[in-house]
Amino acid sequence: MEKSFPRSKGSSGQELSGWGSVAVHAGHKQDPMYAHLVPIYASSTYVFDDAEQGMRRFSGKEDGYIYSRWGNPTMTEAEEKIAALETFGLNKEVKGILHASGMAAISTLMLGTLKPGDKIITHFSLYGGTDELVNKVLPSFGITAIITDLRDLNKAEELLKTDPSVKMMYLETPANPTIQCVDLDELSKLAKQHKLVVACDNTFATPYLQQPFKYEIDFVIHSTTKFLNGHGTAIGGILLGKDVELMKTKMTKLHRLLGGNSNPFDAFLLIQGIKTLEVRMERHCHNAMETALFLETHPAVAKVNYTGLRSHADHTTAMKQMRHPGAMLSFELKDGLQAGINFMNKLKMCVRTVSLGTCDTLLSHPASMTHYSVPKEERIKYGITDGLIRMNVGIENLQDIINDLEQALAP
Ligand code: PLP
Repeated sequence: MEKSFPRSKGSSGQELSGWGSVAVHAGHKQDPMYAHLVPIYASSTYVFDDAEQGMRRFSGKEDGYIYSRWGNPTMTEAEEKIAALETFGLNKEVKGILHASGMAAISTLMLGTLKPGDKIITHFSLYGGTDELVNKVLPSFGITAIITDLRDLNKAEELLKTDPSVKMMYLETPANPTIQCVDLDELSKLAKQHKLVVACDNTFATPYLQQPFKYEIDFVIHSTTKFLNGHGTAIGGILLGKDVELMKTKMTKLHRLLGGNSNPFDAFLLIQGIKTLEVRMERHCHNAMETALFLETHPAVAKVNYTGLRSHADHTTAMKQMRHPGAMLSFELKDGLQAGINFMNKLKMCVRTVSLGTCDTLLSHPASMTHYSVPKEERIKYGITDGLIRMNVGIENLQDIINDLEQALAP
């Protein structure tokens, strides 16, 4: 008999009271061969007992897998686990659809909810890929964007009052690379007054630190490539929606047709990573706070952007909606571009790379890397100065992180 651990329930159906227990058990179903972990179902297609069963499956009268672009048991476990974590303690049900990448999840969201003539209201400092999708790809489908500082609620309200073609509010908080935060509660209320669909990219925070569904957000997106996987072993994404019916019908159909499906091996890696999310995030956040305090007093550093510091403009917003201020910070070196390049070259243990969400500390220098081709005046407008360094604070021993930064910052 199949034993399932749906949502926040344990092996015998009991409610699990701890976040970590849900991360470990939710979504798991006992394997028919009694394997402890969900197997990697490396099969593109599924067999039918007879033609009638095939007919029932295709007509939706019987649940069951048909073809792995449409769904796969390993992928289902990951989807149910993340859905359980995003709704833990909220008494809500949401449905998740696993994707090949965070960008694939965002594409399904945009194409499934918007039509030509619609507008998106969003803010500066989105992930670069999202920014390009919104500004360079969607306009050719007749969908355009209003980009404003959504921390200014009055301005946002003014814009919404004067433009009825705005149909979606798209949020990312904390956002890349300046770690700006927007107020999920206030913005969601405002968006609902204007009948907008609200979506939030929760990649930097993870469901352990922040649950956008608490604020009636309609869709949550993750690049699971980052903290959810936690080890940098696979690219992936998920789109979760609170309208379960819509997710099971229109969004599932679109996802299947666009072909941005995940695969069982990546889903398996993701499932194993999520089991340790709570302990990893606790350590990430502790190390990040201590690193921010160290950098704040360093003579070579002009400014530290970390939501845990009172000096951060969005400290109050972050503390209102996040359990801890997160693992991401950025800081500005006083001596600009060359200081940034010198610092990056001197790093020994910490890694020079652009991603985030892994156990090891990763640093990037946007002006010479991700934003190299963005005109200086443009990037400065978004707070990306010549000496800005972005840092994913890892879970190594804190002293080793500080020692490496100290030697790399030395003149
Ligand atoms: N959202 C955020 C906040 C990101 O940082 C990224 C990637 O860095 C993405 C979305 C896109 O995710 P992926 O690279 O998995 O497509």
